[in-house]
Amino acid sequence: MSDSDRPVVLRNGLVLTMDDSHTVLEGADVLVVGDRIAEVGHHLTAPDDALEIDATGGIIMPGMVDTHRHMWQTAMRGYGADWTLTQYFVWYYLESGKLFRPEDVHAGNLLGAIEAIDSGVTTTVDWSHGLQTVDHADAAVDALEAVPGRFVLGYGNIQQGPWEWSTSDAFRDFYRRRIDGGKLAGFQLAFDVPGDPAFPEKAAFEVARDLGVKVTTHAGVWGATNDDGIRLMYENGFMTPGTVYVHAATLSSDSYHRIAATGGSVSVSTESEQSAGQGYPPTWTLRKHDIPVSLSMDTSVWWSGDLFSAMRTTLSADRSREHLEAHGAKETVTHHHLRAEQVVDWATRGGAKALGMDSEIGALTPGRKADVVLIKNDDSPAMFPVLHPYGHVVYQAQRGDVHTVLIGGKVVKQDGKLVGGDLAGARAKVGTTVDYLRETMGEDLWKRGMNPEIPESRILHNPYQYTK
Ligand SMILES: [Zn+2]
Repeated sequence: MSDSDRPVVLRNGLVLTMDDSHTVLEGADVLVVGDRIAEVGHHLTAPDDALEIDATGGIIMPGMVDTHRHMWQTAMRGYGADWTLTQYFVWYYLESGKLFRPEDVHAGNLLGAIEAIDSGVTTTVDWSHGLQTVDHADAAVDALEAVPGRFVLGYGNIQQGPWEWSTSDAFRDFYRRRIDGGKLAGFQLAFDVPGDPAFPEKAAFEVARDLGVKVTTHAGVWGATNDDGIRLMYENGFMTPGTVYVHAATLSSDSYHRIAATGGSVSVSTESEQSAGQGYPPTWTLRKHDIPVSLSMDTSVWWSGDLFSAMRTTLSADRSREHLEAHGAKETVTHHHLRAEQVVDWATRGGAKALGMDSEIGALTPGRKADVVLIKNDDSPAMFPVLHPYGHVVYQAQRGDVHTVLIGGKVVKQDGKLVGGDLAGARAKVGTTVDYLRETMGEDLWKRGMNPEIPESRILHNPYQYTK
């Protein structure tokens, strides 16, 4: 029996099971046998050969689920820190996105996938819209299969209409070779519906229906997609259960009703919406429309693949909006509607539900796949005392506190260190991609892309300061 097949028992932790009643157990154990959770409770008897992990002082929770991340863009980590959505579109869609070769998509995916498991994100949707050719798609899948995480490929291609690439023989062949019966955790078609009344996207929706796969779409993105896209999808019968609407930040109440009524969910990328400008992070209104929520980080070209950030900003943005609306009406919020507990739910169960995987992942209950995260850091002053477990996960803990990660019962991170996985190799590949892009673009374009012009801002006259 190899080490990775050994049973694992995490001992004496604070367990957030995220089961139906959100049971929290103090000083409890989680026993993993094979790829599944065997038992959760106190003083469990473990097999003699079990790997014992001391979770004292730590929080044990289900692995997190990111429902929307453009992993290929991890190769450009941080490059777009000062971008708006406009600069993003110009750079990736119009100017430089075409330069990415299959090996560049591979490099970004590899680093993004390792980053996900390192930060306790055990399932990630790779919203892969840089698949200009099927060779790019093969390279993307090669990377996802090389890392021991759970990955759903959202197949997309921003360089062609979805009605073109999704109906091609090459795409069909790729699906047959790599997806049908393949190793990935799932597959979606990833494309947007900007609202052309002729609805050319219909052909791509039909492909999804034929294949029996779901669609994920950037909806309600200020200046890009709006209520027209939702209406077209609805009128043509393509707003089906399991559709994941990304952002959905600038839609009318009518569109939100359509999403709720047809069994869709929204992937909220708060850090992205706050900075890029898709619209105000929408949980404040999604809650009112009873729309299921999952969380996502969108892209590492601005932010990182870190769902602690997503939880923290989502909770704060929701509260920020509630206060702002109240103050506008000369009122005071005395009790928050949104609680830390709900945000942890969105980061785990919410993602699992959005992907139709909630019978398998998203909670620590016997029989489910053993995707487990232990947050523990005895060297961190912020990890003591742990009084409000959900609040601690959202506002105190961070990715550096991810001590141990199991995916399907395999230990992929232990004692704060990745187990296996070729981080050095991924870094080298991304380094090669960066060198290639920089050289191809030229130093001038490279620098201009990273440093958008700052509009002039006027400082208000201050009557308390002397001026000449
Ligand atoms: Zn996106």
